[in-house]
Amino acid sequence: MDDEILKKYKKAGEILKEARNLGLKMIKPGAKILDVVEAVENKILSLGGEFAFPVNISINQNAAHDTADINDSRTFEEGDLIKLDIGVHVDGYIADSAKTVSLNSGKEDLIKASETALEEALKMMRPGVKVYEVSEVIEDTIRSMGFNPIINLTGHGLDRYELHARFEFPNIKNAIDYELKEGDVFAIEPFSTDGSGKVTETNKILIYRYLSDRPVRFPESRKILELTREKYHGLPFAKRWLLKEIKISPIKLNLILRQLSQNGSLYEYPVLKEVQNGFVAQAEHTVVVGDNPIITTA
Ligand code: MN
Ligand code: MN
Repeated sequence: MDDEILKKYKKAGEILKEARNLGLKMIKPGAKILDVVEAVENKILSLGGEFAFPVNISINQNAAHDTADINDSRTFEEGDLIKLDIGVHVDGYIADSAKTVSLNSGKEDLIKASETALEEALKMMRPGVKVYEVSEVIEDTIRSMGFNPIINLTGHGLDRYELHARFEFPNIKNAIDYELKEGDVFAIEPFSTDGSGKVTETNKILIYRYLSDRPVRFPESRKILELTREKYHGLPFAKRWLLKEIKISPIKLNLILRQLSQNGSLYEYPVLKEVQNGFVAQAEHTVVVGDNPIITTA
């Protein structure tokens, strides 16, 4: 990998770590989710990073894709199990990392399972190792600790302005015999659960991404497409961001987002929850493959 590019991956990782530390410190019973999300996002911008996706805060049975809504009044509660998932890019080079926080949820072993699986996987991210070999270790580690991996959530390759490059990196046994190459960048993210090990979509949608320009009726729709294509580079964005960018009522914004999703202009990311309402833990780092793997977010 080019030195300049590696520097940008590392800078994105440094920014992410600082923003993540701030977020982890702020997660307390009674604190508002919206305040934490905004503080983390403001920290990223103040350090010269941009968003690879909105700060995700997914709680208990929710596994991913939850973030603060407009005027979100939700607070953290005693007993919550919280996934804080952050994405930063510098000139398109992405750092993606998540940690799980327990507010006396009693789910510490579940967190340990995802963390241990991640540690074991990261050690293997060297040239010549096959994807299925790493996936097998992730699955076996989680199961050996008495939990289930989530079969339909995966890690992924990263590339410039591409959050899901090359292929999905499964957390369960598979037949992907791709050999890791020096300089490949991946986000590895084992999810462990005490449920059955599968997530399903809820009807709550707070995150979208630009897909393509289709004919639209409202000037605001055109503005949203331009913004999400250019400023957000086709990366995922939060509904709440749009209210800061364009003059529109929340009701009309909801209407337009629904239309743009239905006509194929935008992709929707529904909040994902465990099918049996199991609790879900996640651990994630971004790694550059090498004889000494570089974990940019550790
Ligand atoms: Mn992530
Ligand atoms: Mn990821």
